Amino acid sequence: MPDASFVAALQRRLGYAPPRQILSAALTDLFPGRIAVVSSFGAESAVLLHLVAGIDPATPVLFVDTGRHFAETLDYRDRLVGHLGLTGLRTIGPSEAEAARLDADLSRAVWDPDGCCAFRKVAPLERALAGFDAWITGRKRFQAATRFDLPVVERDGAHIKVNPLASWSAADVADYVRAHDLPAHPLLAQGYRSIGCAPCTSIVAPGEDPRAGRWRGFDKTECGIHRPAVPHLLNQE
Ligand code: SF4
Repeated sequence: MPDASFVAALQRRLGYAPPRQILSAALTDLFPGRIAVVSSFGAESAVLLHLVAGIDPATPVLFVDTGRHFAETLDYRDRLVGHLGLTGLRTIGPSEAEAARLDADLSRAVWDPDGCCAFRKVAPLERALAGFDAWITGRKRFQAATRFDLPVVERDGAHIKVNPLASWSAADVADYVRAHDLPAHPLLAQGYRSIGCAPCTSIVAPGEDPRAGRWRGFDKTECGIHRPAVPHLLNQE
């Protein structure tokens, strides 16, 4: 478990630094060989991955293949990895046996999205992160009211979590994408602003939070990888 004073010192050191400096410190100075990027290959993922590729293209990139993604996301993952020259992609996810036991008819997202996320996302990521001390996310404060106070460095159980783009606005992201001519997720053109699994992602109306289309109709705003896991759900039939 990382010491709270260590986390606070990192936040003081990196909390107001530009993203490239934060990433460089995390990848090459603080956690060399012991840190991974976690990417959904969603609407804004290209920015973080482009920054990482510019520092170390062999950085491990963990993608949780839940088995419920849009086909467009899987295609985009492969295209973006090739475009950026990333060599450390690791696709993780639930086993076929888990999926058959816990969601045989693929309806769990409708009647128990927390349980579905627990075995399709949270548990596979926890297993994959066991080999690392720290991980990097692309979360930003502007994306949702629930992320308004997101720090750059935080403690996440046994890990340090680094959010180098926390302070970036939607305009910063758009400017970066334009400046580097980064490929866009194909669903952006259809009105999606935050892209997760197909059963739990809908188009966002003007003025809504970018993540308003996730789990629409449920009192759920995060998949669970950004909060304590719910291991009891993994044992449910
Ligand atoms: S986002 Fe939806 S389909 Fe994907 S794991 Fe969570 S509940 Fe299941």
